[in-house]
Amino acid sequence: MVAMPYVDRYAPSPTSDLHLGNLRTALAGWLLARASGGRWLMRVEDLDADRVRAADGVEARNLADLAALGLHWDGEVVRQSERLNLYRDAVASLPTYECFCTRREIAEAASAPHDGYRAYPGTCRALTAAERAEKRASRPPAIRVDSGGATFAVDDVHAGRTEALVDDFVLVRGDGAFAYNLAVVVDDIAMGVTHITRGADLLSSAPRQAWLTRQLGGMPATYAHIGLVVNEQGQRLAKRDGAVTLRDLPHLAPADVVAQLSESLGLGPCRTTEEALAAMPGDQRFFSRAVWHDGALS
Ligand code: GLU
Repeated sequence: MVAMPYVDRYAPSPTSDLHLGNLRTALAGWLLARASGGRWLMRVEDLDADRVRAADGVEARNLADLAALGLHWDGEVVRQSERLNLYRDAVASLPTYECFCTRREIAEAASAPHDGYRAYPGTCRALTAAERAEKRASRPPAIRVDSGGATFAVDDVHAGRTEALVDDFVLVRGDGAFAYNLAVVVDDIAMGVTHITRGADLLSSAPRQAWLTRQLGGMPATYAHIGLVVNEQGQRLAKRDGAVTLRDLPHLAPADVVAQLSESLGLGPCRTTEEALAAMPGDQRFFSRAVWHDGALS
C-alpha cells in the first residue's frame, strides 16, 4: 500500500521574535506531522522588505528558538524573497485588474491579516482605460485578482467545513511587493504541502487561499487552525503582554517551555518534543486556545 503523503510547513514572518503562541502552534504542527509520519518544512515569509530590514537578526533567532525546543524541520529553509519569479508567473496566469484604492488598505496586504479582514467591494474593477491611465499618473496601482464573486469551502480538522465569499484580494501591492495571500498559495503548491497547521486567526483566509490554489492548478490542503494563546483579556498574545518570547523568559529552560506548551495542548507536561509525540493524540484541548496568566500557560 502506498502511504498518503503528509507535508506541512511552518511559516514565520521574520519581523518579530516568536512568542509562546507562535511556538505553541509550531509544536502542534510538528506533532501532527510527525504523528502521521509526515514532513515538516520551514518557510521564512520575508516579502515585506522594509519590516524585515528593520528587524535585523530576527530570522536567525526564530530558527534558533525552534531548534532549541526540538522543533527540527526537514530539508532546507525556503525564503520567499528568493522566489519572486514564481509569484510573477502566477500573477501573469490569473485574471487581474489594477486597483488605486487607499495605500493603507493595500499596504496591509503583504502581511497575514491577523486582526480581521475587510472584503474588497470591487471599486476599481469597472474603471475604463482612460480612468486607469489618469489614476496611474498619481499613484502606482496594486493588482487584484478578479474572483468573479466566487465562494469556496475548506475542511478544517477542528472548525469543520468553513465556507466564505472570495473577494478580489490583492496579489501585488502598489509598491510592487507580492502579497501574503498570493505567495503563501504559490509556495504551498510548489512545496507539495498537503496539510496546513497555523493560528486560528488565519482561518478566515483559508477559503480565499484554497480558491486561489485551485485557480493555479493545485490541490487545497487540509487545514488545522490551532487556538491562539491569549492574555487575560482574551486578546491574542503580543509584545504588549510583556515577557512572551524565549528571550524574555531566561529563567525557563527549553524543557520548561516545551512542558508548558505540551500541557496546554492537553498532552501533559512533556519535557521534550519526542516525549510529547509519544503522548499524542492528546485530548480535546489540542486545538483549543490557551491563556497566558501570571507567567504560566493554562
Ligand atoms: N507568515 C504568516 C504569519 O506569520 C503565516 C502564514 C501561514 O501559515 O499561512 O502569520
